[in-house]
Amino acid sequence: MQFTDFSLDKRLLQSLKHLGIEQPTEIQADAIPVALAGRDLMASSKTGSGKTLAFLLPALQRLMSTRALSKQDPRVLILLPTRELANQVYSQLRLLVANTQYKAVSILGGENFNDQAKALARNPHIIVATPGRIADHLQQRHLYLNGLELLILDEADRMLDLGFAPQLRAIHQAADHRRRQTLMFSATLDHHDIHELALELLNNPEHVAIGSSH
Ligand code: ADP
Ligand code: MG
Repeated sequence: MQFTDFSLDKRLLQSLKHLGIEQPTEIQADAIPVALAGRDLMASSKTGSGKTLAFLLPALQRLMSTRALSKQDPRVLILLPTRELANQVYSQLRLLVANTQYKAVSILGGENFNDQAKALARNPHIIVATPGRIADHLQQRHLYLNGLELLILDEADRMLDLGFAPQLRAIHQAADHRRRQTLMFSATLDHHDIHELALELLNNPEHVAIGSSH
């Protein structure tokens, strides 16, 4: 299987080529078609298996192939538990958007709140963020999620471990409309609260588990 087997924009295929990435990993092969079809997804596979591109490619494809629901609101929000993980995803995202007109920003805990408010006022299409800080900006009305088309929770089990469930619920509620798609990724599905969170946030999800014993 090749990335060219998916219906991906040629700009994305070109970026992959530049990165020297040719063949999808297992999780990418299984998750990308589901995400491209607009389905909600609960996916697990071990660390290092390529989960980032499994959600970044469908996210960018969605921006390129559909009309925005809103001119102001972000279209894609990607949540991660820590600054370090968010920076890793953000740097991969920057490589992919470099080829496009889309604006991406990262909104992380520990950074200047007012600078972030200004960045949000410039109406980015894609936000990579930690949940606490995004919940703060929502509360301050620095952003609205009524037009959000795609919510991605990466490392969902670790976000629960760090106590982010209330913030995740607040973000979900701010973006709770029937045209929103939600993708949840995790290294394992062992966390006892993850299925409950999935029931609340995901709508009739497809399940993809690579290397799972059950
Ligand atoms: P995970 O999120 O599952 O821990 P990452 O998305 O961080 O894994 O990917 C791990 C590494 O594998 C990264 O350096 C990434 O660039 C590389 N990678 C991802 N997909 C592919 C692929 N299809 N072919 C080769 N390398 C890949
Ligand atoms: Mg990852």
